[in-house]
Amino acid sequence: MKNFVVSARKYRPAVFDHVVGQPHITTTLKNAIKDKHLAQAFLFCGPRGVGKTTCARILAKTINCQQVTVDTEPCNTCASCTSFNSGRSLNIYELDAASNNSVEDIRVLVEQVRYSPQAGQYKVYIIDEVHMLSNAAFNAFLKTLEEPPSYAIFILATTEKHKIIPTILSRCQIFDFHRIQPKDIVQQLKHIAQQEGITYEEEALYLMGQKADGALRDALSIFDLVVTFVSGQLVSLQATLEHLHILDHSYYFKLTDACLQHNPGAALLIYDEILRSGFDGHHFITGLSEHFRNLMMGQDVATLQLLEAADSVKEQYQIQAARASLAFLFKALNIANQCDLHYKNSNNKRLHVEVALIELTHIQEVDQLAGTVKNPLTQLHSKPSTPTTTPTSVLASSPQRKDTEKNNEKCKNEGKTVGSASPLPAKKVSTLQATIKLPQIDQLKKSFDQQQPSSCSQPPERITTQLPITQEAVHQHWETYAKKLKTAGKMSEYSLLNQDITLADTTIVLQLVNAVQQDILAGIQEDLMAYLRKILQCPALELKGVVVPAEKNTKPYTAQEKFNYLVEKYPDLRMFQEKLCLEVQD
Ligand SMILES: [Zn+2]
Repeated sequence: MKNFVVSARKYRPAVFDHVVGQPHITTTLKNAIKDKHLAQAFLFCGPRGVGKTTCARILAKTINCQQVTVDTEPCNTCASCTSFNSGRSLNIYELDAASNNSVEDIRVLVEQVRYSPQAGQYKVYIIDEVHMLSNAAFNAFLKTLEEPPSYAIFILATTEKHKIIPTILSRCQIFDFHRIQPKDIVQQLKHIAQQEGITYEEEALYLMGQKADGALRDALSIFDLVVTFVSGQLVSLQATLEHLHILDHSYYFKLTDACLQHNPGAALLIYDEILRSGFDGHHFITGLSEHFRNLMMGQDVATLQLLEAADSVKEQYQIQAARASLAFLFKALNIANQCDLHYKNSNNKRLHVEVALIELTHIQEVDQLAGTVKNPLTQLHSKPSTPTTTPTSVLASSPQRKDTEKNNEKCKNEGKTVGSASPLPAKKVSTLQATIKLPQIDQLKKSFDQQQPSSCSQPPERITTQLPITQEAVHQHWETYAKKLKTAGKMSEYSLLNQDITLADTTIVLQLVNAVQQDILAGIQEDLMAYLRKILQCPALELKGVVVPAEKNTKPYTAQEKFNYLVEKYPDLRMFQEKLCLEVQD
């Protein structure tokens, strides 16, 4: 049986130019060799698997090469180079400080340094994971590092630069290695696949590149494993997903479609499928956040380059991004992020994610009602349904249910927009009800709606009976309600309602003097509005409290103003007024 050589070793670069993704390092090193400006101590910093040791080895080989090329690369044919390539060279000494970090290990190394090289010009000492050296070992090493013999070159490598003591840092020339870009990793994987005659799907290689998180060595290990897994077959995206146990991004695309079509049923079914495939809910939700982030990047040509994906996937992102508004994505990201943050503390994790999904499927309609989404309504309905969304036969819908739903959504909208702009006319609301929902979803949705602080108390039929309301009628019922409060002994609430109101379309604007009044208003707003909506037969009626701070120099004029002024100064007065059921009289 032929020995299998892992790709990371087999395709370890033999020259600087083959080092992937670190041109700033290799160019500097080549120039230093060419100009004979070589430092005696280097510190190579950067994440694991990005080529630190590889660069160190190529450097050692090049400076000992007998026929360095014009391009300052090792010839790889001379005696020195071949001994390096076969790992027999005595001019290179590698110490893994992770496992050899004692003073004794360093003493052995320092002892070695004393002997000049038998062949070649330089002896190169590579100390990997140098931050693992004990303090005593560091100190034993300092002297040598400070005054090394002319033939000795030290290359210290570390993944944790901040752990290196300043005395070492100041004696080294520091090189910062970059995380390797997925596209560079993909390029390298393609190269290896071609060399090995392996057929592949580009998406599969991108997935490996992403999974490797900037470490080429990890990507190569993944590649090797998947190649072994498919055993001579095509390295497909599906096989890679299966092997790496990664959620296929098509799930996220489908799910976002469900959100854009405000179809909670489809969203929950997709989530169920994901869970049944053995994926963790937390991974799913972080993946979903990532997906929304990618869509945000896909909205702008300028940020499109931040998307690390195969071109075909990029295109998919662009298409979906065009359908989603920035406002939608922003809210979606926020919801997904909140779900992620609270996932660990949730007792019912599945429900926790499901509630977030239901919320996600409602962003679009809430926005459309508020008129803030750029997407026209037509876009929403002309969209072809995705292949995964549940077939219509499964979805039951009775007119009755739709009615309740209509009301629920209407209420939800009101709940969200209290104190802001007035909602769109009821006619527009009804056009949004085309979506069909799963029966069991209705239950969930209802329970979700109940959690929302809103005033959803009016019966369904009220929606359709919108009548024009007059200023007089509002004033009349407003006063009736105020008197009820007075009878109940709620004097502060009563005096609050005694202030000026104006009616703009279906919004009552109440002028407030300060934040205290705002708090008082918040306490009675729900009841008050329920009362007014019912008696005025106007479910769309809104109340907006506007704080108009009294100008500092304005003197209180009416008795009420004087009283308010005094309450500002002596808040206890309010208590007296309430306890004694007093009323301010002009
Ligand atoms: Zn050579």
